[in-house]
Amino acid sequence: MKTLCSHTPLPDKSATGPTVGDIFREYGPAFRSSNRLHPRQHKVMYDIEHCRRGEFGTHWEICDTCGHLKKGYNSCRNRHCPGCK
Ligand SMILES: [Zn+2]
Ligand SMILES: [Zn+2]
Repeated sequence: MKTLCSHTPLPDKSATGPTVGDIFREYGPAFRSSNRLHPRQHKVMYDIEHCRRGEFGTHWEICDTCGHLKKGYNSCRNRHCPGCK
């Protein structure tokens, strides 16, 4: 089995802490049921929750150091998404 390219290490979850997407995925259902959200707000939450998780398609990324090819997940491109600014 091929190991992941060492030049493009995956972010360490324990070191970076939860992302807004993680928080939305965990508390989103409770938040939705206790707040009356505008359809547009639902869309924003959906986009952030599914950002870079394969929901918006995939692409290939090439490491500029060694040329190693790896699969990348497309971002949601929602301007409200903290990961897509
Ligand atoms: Zn590399
Ligand atoms: Zn995003």
